[in-house]
Amino acid sequence: MALPSGCDVATLTQALQSADPDEQMQALDACYAMLTDPTLWYWLIGFTVVSALVGALIGKYKNAVVRDTLLGLALGPIGWGISLLLPKAVPKPPCRACGKPITAGDKYCRHCGAPL
Ligand SMILES: [Zn+2]
Repeated sequence: MALPSGCDVATLTQALQSADPDEQMQALDACYAMLTDPTLWYWLIGFTVVSALVGALIGKYKNAVVRDTLLGLALGPIGWGISLLLPKAVPKPPCRACGKPITAGDKYCRHCGAPL
């Protein structure tokens, strides 16, 4: 009987249907070894970092660095697409008294209390 050497659906299914517990264990070990292969994780971490950096670049253009960095980090290229589709954030106007950004519609500055 040929023992499975790699982790793929066919060999795993076949091994799990087998009555031989050694064969089942060997198939599971092969899958475990593949999941714990450091190369896979280097790629995954590298991809995550690149996704966040590209998101940050899009965010810089869209005036929403934090939002777009998080989108890139969480969703990768899908997040970049969402960032690009979102409207460009309008920078908040500064308060005339203290210079800190104020929200449109506020009657008083949140930072210094000056009437707007
Ligand atoms: Zn102010």
